[in-house]
Amino acid sequence: MQINPPYQRQSILAAIVDDSEDAIISKSLESRITSWNKAAERIFGYTEQEMIGELIYKLIPPERHKEEIEIIRQLKAGNRIEHFETVRLTKSGRRLQISLTVSPIRDSTGKVIGAAKIARDITRKKQYEESLNLINELGKSINAQLNVNVVLQIVSDAATRMSNAAFGFFLYNNVNSAGENVLTSAVSGTLSDKQEDFKVFARPSTIFQSAFNGSKVVRSRDIRDDQHFGPHAIKVNLAEQQQQMVSYMAVPVVSRGGFIAGGLFFGHPEPGVFNEEHENLVLAIAAQAAIALDNARMYEEVNTLNAKKDQFISFASHELKTPLTTLKGYLQLGHKNKMSLADIYPKVEKQINRLEEIITDLLDVSLISAGKFEISISKTNIADIIALSIDSLMLQKHHLNIQNPLNALEVWVDKAKMVQVLTNMLTNAAKYSANDSTIWLNTSLADGQVLISVRDEGMGIPSQHLKDIFNQFYRVSHPSSKAKGAGLGLYISKEILEAHSGKIWAESVVGEGSTFYIQFPATHNS
Ligand code: ADP
Repeated sequence: MQINPPYQRQSILAAIVDDSEDAIISKSLESRITSWNKAAERIFGYTEQEMIGELIYKLIPPERHKEEIEIIRQLKAGNRIEHFETVRLTKSGRRLQISLTVSPIRDSTGKVIGAAKIARDITRKKQYEESLNLINELGKSINAQLNVNVVLQIVSDAATRMSNAAFGFFLYNNVNSAGENVLTSAVSGTLSDKQEDFKVFARPSTIFQSAFNGSKVVRSRDIRDDQHFGPHAIKVNLAEQQQQMVSYMAVPVVSRGGFIAGGLFFGHPEPGVFNEEHENLVLAIAAQAAIALDNARMYEEVNTLNAKKDQFISFASHELKTPLTTLKGYLQLGHKNKMSLADIYPKVEKQINRLEEIITDLLDVSLISAGKFEISISKTNIADIIALSIDSLMLQKHHLNIQNPLNALEVWVDKAKMVQVLTNMLTNAAKYSANDSTIWLNTSLADGQVLISVRDEGMGIPSQHLKDIFNQFYRVSHPSSKAKGAGLGLYISKEILEAHSGKIWAESVVGEGSTFYIQFPATHNS
């Protein structure tokens, strides 16, 4: 190995010092600066000429002057100071977080005559650490929060602040108590929630959505050179009408199940605002948000279920009590007046049948909720199902018009349950229409599917209720009707049809009548 002569070593060292990323400064024991490299110039803003011969105190905030006294004391004792984290001032007065390593410089006799300082700017690292602490704090506060909207707002505000965005918003696909998806949002910064335009981002084909197809963050320095945006309408909306947006960042929020539950979007009127650090910060926030939102959502679900259970108990007790009270009344009356059983039997039987109906419905509902609702398929024929449904009814007050071209058609269904569906359709047709009106029952077969319809000339159902009547306990309040019911028949019917790979639906014109349809495959394939 060839040893470099001393002058060559000197120039190599000088080059290293010059090229260093860290500030390398030497000073005398009187704290006067004796050398100042290029990085020192870049970090602190002073040139070499400005600093040589100056006191190091120029860089030290007044409240930290005593640190220098301690450093000199340590140096004189021949000690080295390593990775001392402190604060120093730049020429413009800005405070920098730095990590300092100070080593003694000795003369040929070994006497300490000065010090070499290496200063690393750790401002960004410190900010990052602080942000991580903030994120942890944020995580704790949102985890304690069980309201989805509050979580969205806290997260949107914190992420907008930490990413230096001018504005931000959080769009989240929530599920309401009816189990439907609803878009929930929170906005922060200069965006107002009155400016609903930002919701266009939730539509398919927007950059916000395409960010989430790959579950990746999308970040743009300048949308004017952004091929994603191009002449997109959103650019016009945001850039020209409400917010001058030039740079943006879109971050998906991935839920526990791995699906994208929503996303955070940040914008700024200046280019290049969002960097990799912001991306990492917001990703960390998004991960915290996803957990908190999952929890809040579960909590809301439990609350909804509890409310449903309470509603169920109050409904069941009320519904059971009505026929029971009537029954008791008849029995007391019969007893008091010494009436024969034959006299009161029809009235008693009617109330007992009603009780039986309610209890059967409740049992069905509990089986459905427990996922234990089963059908037992056998071969039967349509004419039988119709005959049994009519038998169980008292339709003397209506005209029944049956058109059943499928008389001899054999189908594979759960006979008792299909009778239950058809009976409910016919009972409703009678219950919600005037005496003496006509009820039509029609059947047809197309593409292997049996279609049965029951039409009445009754009061009809307003179109906004047509879907909901198949939900548990849903009843339309018809001002002209005193018909009693639990709002369970159609719900159970829907379950029965679905178990047969079929469906049930209704059409209606208020004041003219309603038609209920059921459709199911004639043959069962399972
Ligand atoms: P209910 O026991 O209340 O009749 P259903 O589940 O069978 O329960 O029906 C739900 C609701 O749908 C009823 O309360 C009623 O408001 C409406 N409905 C059902 N069938 C008809 C019909 N043929 N005409 C008018 N409204 C109807």
